[in-house]
Amino acid sequence: MGKLGFIGLGVMGTPMAAHLAAAGHDVSGFDLNADARAKLEAAGGRAAADVADAVAGAEVVITMLPDHPQVEQVVLAPGGVLDAVAPGTLLADMSTIRPETSIAVAEAGAAKGIRVLDAPVSGGQAGAEEAALSIMVGGEAADFAVARPLFEVFGKTIVHVGPHGAGQVVKAANQLVVGGVYGLVAEAIVLLEASGVDAGTGLDVLAGGLAGSRILELKRKSMVAREFKPGFRIDLHHKDMGIALAAARQADVALPLTGLVAQLVAAGRSMGYGSLDHSALLKVVEELSGRSSQEV
Ligand code: NAD
Repeated sequence: MGKLGFIGLGVMGTPMAAHLAAAGHDVSGFDLNADARAKLEAAGGRAAADVADAVAGAEVVITMLPDHPQVEQVVLAPGGVLDAVAPGTLLADMSTIRPETSIAVAEAGAAKGIRVLDAPVSGGQAGAEEAALSIMVGGEAADFAVARPLFEVFGKTIVHVGPHGAGQVVKAANQLVVGGVYGLVAEAIVLLEASGVDAGTGLDVLAGGLAGSRILELKRKSMVAREFKPGFRIDLHHKDMGIALAAARQADVALPLTGLVAQLVAAGRSMGYGSLDHSALLKVVEELSGRSSQEV
């Protein structure tokens, strides 16, 4: 199997790269963080000295970075991926970033004969560890066909959703729905508790009816117990709500509920909850009514 370069070995990138190495791929990875590089070596990959070293000779490069400035730095800057790989290489950027940056990266790649996909994921750390990610892919169908067998190593639901940037738009839609549902589950808990009704019992009923959702299924117990260990941090969701609002502006549409949820997420960050799980939106909603969480 051909050589793979993997840049960004964080919460998501480490298990994804480890699955690729376990599947027999020759994975060279780089991260600024030395501990992350050591984890890749422990998983059977090679820790590279820098981005250029990681991607030299690679047939496919995967990036899994926090946000667009890091993608621009790693991919577009002098000495970055586009400078270091040969024409014909496929770059799959799996970070969650603005659609416009994904389009700009694809255009810069095309100018050098490098094929680019935007392929953000959903499913969180557990999805990455259990090789059960959902992957939404924007770009050319032929490039998707090449990348698909690699995505199948750590993904379950893998869908080509449209041209460059479309994967990021689908991810933005995913994040606004997730944020909105968390906000409403938080409001349900506050209402139940303030009315003297057991919130756990109430949410059990909701989970079995039309209000049921994957969030209620997976998170209702930890929210009622005020367990907010991440998971997906409020800080990252704040970034994603910004992407959703920017995409809405770009598309010339109004998304009022998304705007409201973005403000609640921003408030969570301002209140010091940025490193808690996004289910900690409950703390924001409680504080609006002068009720403070019993536990973090
Ligand atoms: P993370 O912060 O854990 O990992 C990012 C890694 O990139 C870090 O290890 C960091 O050291 C590295 N990095 C940053 N700049 C670099 C550079 N210039 N060169 C090399 N390495 C660099 O983030 P994560 O949770 O793994 O998320 C990655 C992306 O996936 C984000 O866009 C996030 O929104 C998205 N995502 C995360 C989750 C989740 O549950 N954590 C779920 C779905 C999508």
